[in-house]
Amino acid sequence: MKLQIITRTCRGCGQTMPLDMFGTDRREKDGKNRLCRACLHRKYVREYAEIKKDPERYAALLEQRRKNSEDYRRKRGARKVVRHEVPEGMKRCPRCGKIMPREVFRGASYCPDCRRAYNRERWEAIKASDWMHERFLQTKRRTYKLKKLYGNKGMGGRPTDAERPRDRG
Ligand SMILES: [Zn+2]
Ligand SMILES: [Zn+2]
Repeated sequence: MKLQIITRTCRGCGQTMPLDMFGTDRREKDGKNRLCRACLHRKYVREYAEIKKDPERYAALLEQRRKNSEDYRRKRGARKVVRHEVPEGMKRCPRCGKIMPREVFRGASYCPDCRRAYNRERWEAIKASDWMHERFLQTKRRTYKLKKLYGNKGMGGRPTDAERPRDRG
């Protein structure tokens, strides 16, 4: 009896390996990366070394990382520890802490000012880095595809803030 194992040949090292040696890549037809995990890791290390050579790109990368972890901590903190008493029909911007009428937010989590600031910061970081710009374009293409599939609401129409039930927890 022959055991059937699904394999794939890595574009990097040319080795044929079981599928679980390859990471997920939704852009690929079969959802698996062209490079094996080891080659992908080597590629990231190489890219990182490239970025590290250029002080400006490296600073942008570090800044982006710091912001990401800060955003992440802020989100977790807001959800886990801090409970803000907000009057009915009002909403608190988690970035600046201002309390404003819910309509001002239009279903977004940040107030318009913070949203503008956040987008500007992100855009500056994206422009400063080639690989971040490439990733940005990939996301844009993906969003376009999703919008074509699911309409303007993107990911299967998640409920907006207005549609969500008021009393959570
Ligand atoms: Zn490989
Ligand atoms: Zn704000």
